[in-house]
Amino acid sequence: MTIYPDTLLFIDGAWRPGAGGRTIPVVNPATAQPIGSVAWADRSDLDQALAAADRAFASWSAASSYDRAKLMRRAADLLRERADEISVMMTMEQGKPVSQSRLETLAGADIIDWFAGEAQRAYGQVIPSRAPDVLQITLKKPVGPVAAFTPWNFPINQVVRKLSAAIAAGCTIIVKAPEETPASPAALIRAFADAGVPAGVINLVYGVPAEISEYLIPHPVIRKISFTGSTPVGKQLAGLAGAHMKRATMELGGHAPVIVAEDADLDLAVDLMVASKFRNAGQVCVSPTRFFVQERIAHAFTDRFTAGATAIRVGNGLDAGIEMGPLANDRRIPALESLITDAVEHGARLTTGGRRIGNEGWFFEPTVLADVPLSARIMNEEPFGPVAVINRFGDLDEAITEANRLPYGLAAFAFTRSSATATRLGNEIEAGMISINHLGLALPEVPFGGIKDSGYGTEGGSEALDAYLDTRLVTRKG
Ligand code: NAD
Repeated sequence: MTIYPDTLLFIDGAWRPGAGGRTIPVVNPATAQPIGSVAWADRSDLDQALAAADRAFASWSAASSYDRAKLMRRAADLLRERADEISVMMTMEQGKPVSQSRLETLAGADIIDWFAGEAQRAYGQVIPSRAPDVLQITLKKPVGPVAAFTPWNFPINQVVRKLSAAIAAGCTIIVKAPEETPASPAALIRAFADAGVPAGVINLVYGVPAEISEYLIPHPVIRKISFTGSTPVGKQLAGLAGAHMKRATMELGGHAPVIVAEDADLDLAVDLMVASKFRNAGQVCVSPTRFFVQERIAHAFTDRFTAGATAIRVGNGLDAGIEMGPLANDRRIPALESLITDAVEHGARLTTGGRRIGNEGWFFEPTVLADVPLSARIMNEEPFGPVAVINRFGDLDEAITEANRLPYGLAAFAFTRSSATATRLGNEIEAGMISINHLGLALPEVPFGGIKDSGYGTEGGSEALDAYLDTRLVTRKG
């Protein structure tokens, strides 16, 4: 049986409590009961983490990428070996079914392996010169110590993308991981420490998010920040980074449109979208939310999607056969209730769900709203929960206009058998990522990131390492 651990800070190679001895309770969302605690970093802890990251940068950035990659691959193997235990911890603190926690942990190992490979491909260029005795080359150099801020919905995945890219590039990092779900990010970082990553290269802190970001971002040691979370917080942190000339990657909210054309494979669209919508109780930045279904099939799609949603088995993620766990924190319950009430008041049809389940833990019914007016808040605000909205469209122009109406531009999905429609949607939907006729997002080798108010930069694919590298020109005569 996995015993849920109290989580410590990891600073300069040592696991230790915060200097002030304060802790924050950790609560199991399936029971609303405390299960442990996490250490709280104060200013002196942050100063030590900064000093460690600064000191370690000199040697880590000079280490060969081959050696960095070797340590990273060892960490990935340790993560795989420990996946069963880590998944149970993740479910206890975050709520998702343990099978999903396990997939997240194993996917984390794949991401580490991918970036280990990328470490060895941080190529510069040789640029043709105007004179025969001039050599022009670019070198890729790590930007410096990084501050990363990650949320609670994917406790390992959100950390591992930033951490792996940073250390592959030769940067050191201070991770401010989520206080709600601290043990699984700590287990991830333990795998790196046990693999032999030197002291100071990776540091882990928890505390008051705003206090930590306001201190770390302007600090002269930090050269780059990466944040995943809501758009309002992202804009605030990007502003702070800009004021202090720090490079930034912003992976923010989304409100993913799903276009289902009348020539789509309906069974495929329903099966994939029900699974995707209710995965992690909809607390996913790329979760499909605004469905636009062409008139002729709208009725059939809504009926089948509703039946699929109603059949989802909701319960404690540790129990066998559970498909959807609780919401990760109590804030999400009133947030969802108010969006759903507002939609119904605006004339939406609630075809299933809409309420909290029971009064123990933070469970919520898989919910479907149909025929929702654009004036309803849920058509404009990210629900970040198990709620799908199904509206109809006549022609493709209408669907594209509506899909692009919001300031968000993270993920989009589409189902069609027409190659012309697929090509058009690929070109015209304003999203960082669109997946057509399958679920193809978030693999380590493909870009992961948004446009418009969903942020900037990518945390996957061949461009992801660049976010942690400076390009320097060396031009030499003779
Ligand atoms: P929130 O906006 O308060 O916090 C979101 C995340 O940002 C949390 O991890 C939080 O610790 C962190 N954060 C908040 N203020 C911060 C600051 N000043 N400095 C550094 N970090 C800070 O919202 P919440 O109630 O925790 O989550 C709900 C909303 O957050 C959702 O509506 C969703 O848009 C967004 N969210 C997005 C993702 C994602 O994957 N993009 C993940 C989790 C939450």
